[in-house]
Amino acid sequence: MYGYVVIDGTLHLRTDQTPEVVQWIYEEYISGRGFDSIARELYVKNIPTPSMIANRKNCGPRWHGTSVRFILENPHYTGSLVQQRETTLSVTNKTRIKNPKDKMIIVPNTHKSLVSEVTFQLVQDLIKNRSKKRNPSNKHLFSNIITCYDCGTSMHFKSNRKGYICGAYVKYTKKACSHHAIKEENLIRHILDDLDKCRKKVLISGTSEKLHEINRREKIRLSNRVTTLQSKIESVQAKKSKLLTLLMDETINKSEYQVAVSSYDKEISSIKSEETQLQYILKRKDNEEEINKLRELLDEVSCRTDITNTSINKLIKHIKIKRNGTPLIEYRFQTLNYLEDL
Ligand SMILES: [Zn+2]
Repeated sequence: MYGYVVIDGTLHLRTDQTPEVVQWIYEEYISGRGFDSIARELYVKNIPTPSMIANRKNCGPRWHGTSVRFILENPHYTGSLVQQRETTLSVTNKTRIKNPKDKMIIVPNTHKSLVSEVTFQLVQDLIKNRSKKRNPSNKHLFSNIITCYDCGTSMHFKSNRKGYICGAYVKYTKKACSHHAIKEENLIRHILDDLDKCRKKVLISGTSEKLHEINRREKIRLSNRVTTLQSKIESVQAKKSKLLTLLMDETINKSEYQVAVSSYDKEISSIKSEETQLQYILKRKDNEEEINKLRELLDEVSCRTDITNTSINKLIKHIKIKRNGTPLIEYRFQTLNYLEDL
């Protein structure tokens, strides 16, 4: 893995420039650059490629967008070990399939991280969003993250309005949706106000207790979800054992039995993987990392000129605009989402 060397079966950071290169790639991607543009710069700067480091035969000095993407999507850079679980499709079919990303088992803190979990997650969201929208006209600050609250369509930037308006309304008139719009400057002011409020509240003593409390409530919510999932598993297992009775009564035949069993097994394994993920989140320490990252950002973004693609990507996950023009902003930081509770 680029940036690391394997010693005695564990990953250790290399002592050359490659760990920094990995971090640089993540930062550049967050700032709005694409895979190819990053690859080009690495090539121009003569940075050794992953295959050169791995000493592969016939490897050229050229970086490709795909190698950059591969680094950006590798969860091992967060310091966790990710194991893919494989499942058998059914009793009769012995083909094994690779599980999708959300069905992996994660063992945290197995080696030194190069990227924080927050950053890694941010990059995954950006990759998802950017691949959805390759529209070059979408170059405005909020184009990739702003949608209409009522119809869910992306909002379009209109320069004559200096702001965004519901895409369905623009294209298909009020038959499709009603007029939802917001001026870009209003949105920016709204965000800066939130940051100001947050800055004031985070600085006041007692805030960390309140943050702790919010975190505690979130954990209760998650553990309730775990309990629900566990009882779901039990009920599916009960249904599964009933099948056997049905088979013995000859109410169903053997192939019907096998089809039903494999569908229950699938259900159980998907519930279990959600449970594993939640258990992992619950085991994590309180969101110290999140709060430190937020403090950093509060220092970085204090006025209008600090609002750039990079800072927006770091701060905001999604914005929905209500009919009366009020923005509902989903921040990447729980502290900002729960500002009113602080
Ligand atoms: Zn709409």
